Amino acid sequence: MLKRIAVLTSGGDSPGMNAAIRAVVRTCIYHGIEAIGVMRGFEGLMEGDFQTMDRASVGGIIHRGGTILRTARSDRFKTEAGQRAAVVHLENRRVDSLVIIGGDGSFRGAEALGKLGFSTIGIPGTIDNDVAGTDVTIGYDTAVNTALTAVQKLRDTASSHDRLFIVEVMGREAGFLALEVAVSGGAEYVVVPEIPLDIAKMCEHLHYSRKKGKTHSLIILAEGVMSALELRSRLQDTGGYDARVTVLGYIQRGGSPTSFDTILASRMGSFAVESLLKGTSGMMVGSVCGNMVLCPLSEAWKSPKPLNPEMLALVEKLGV
Ligand code: ATP
Repeated sequence: MLKRIAVLTSGGDSPGMNAAIRAVVRTCIYHGIEAIGVMRGFEGLMEGDFQTMDRASVGGIIHRGGTILRTARSDRFKTEAGQRAAVVHLENRRVDSLVIIGGDGSFRGAEALGKLGFSTIGIPGTIDNDVAGTDVTIGYDTAVNTALTAVQKLRDTASSHDRLFIVEVMGREAGFLALEVAVSGGAEYVVVPEIPLDIAKMCEHLHYSRKKGKTHSLIILAEGVMSALELRSRLQDTGGYDARVTVLGYIQRGGSPTSFDTILASRMGSFAVESLLKGTSGMMVGSVCGNMVLCPLSEAWKSPKPLNPEMLALVEKLGV
């Protein structure tokens, strides 16, 4: 019988992490289990920076971006000595299982703890959506909507001034964020790491659009390909285009979660605790076709997670 469950957030923060923490803590309380918050991700775990969580400690946070437990990246935790130090603190505090909310890097950390015999479960929280085993990650929908709001404003200026805009969005080595923003923002072109960039083809496409009477164009660029300034100079060199550049940056990571992310986080947080109660360990929670599922942690980084080809084709078709 589980008596104590700890929860931490790790890697980049994402909107909805707080809702997930709340769901973990409240589901623990519902089942009479003590919930413990670990501050500053794996860094705090190695220092035993723990806080007992009650109903009130997760009150008033469901709508807040960021993470009340704070988050960190830790190189020391990548070493076995760091991982062993973490297990000692968990055992001293009599923690039975640890819930880790983060991206695939954080799940590698969870897997390492599992190899030392400690029970863990992962909840995918990252704006990049670059975690296999789940259709969506917590924070992705909010980030798409934040970027979309910015793109919609830029479109007003692009159309008023007959301009070509390049908007660089986040996403690390994946193009999920860029692709959704491109389709919902009505972009003419999307540049993602999954598809090799053909600059001549892009110039041809822009030229064709101009010839057909289009006075302004919008290119969405995923940060994992190159910087917006680099793409700007390549467009200038190849096609003589003078593009305006906007880098959205960290505003995409913050803000209140959308209802989609809040519900996703609430379901995943609660499902994680319910799964631990059933004896699950070394797994991650996913949402597949709207259903809560479990898969091995390693699926997060071992399995491919391709972009939807229909969405890619849509940008080309609708951006004519
Ligand atoms: P995001 O991509 O949204 O930033 P993430 O969880 O992938 O989230 P990372 O910085 O890759 O972010 O990983 C978070 C932390 O997980 C790292 O700082 C490190 O402490 C731990 N970690 C990453 N890889 C490993 C590994 N191979 N072994 C042990 N721990 C790891």
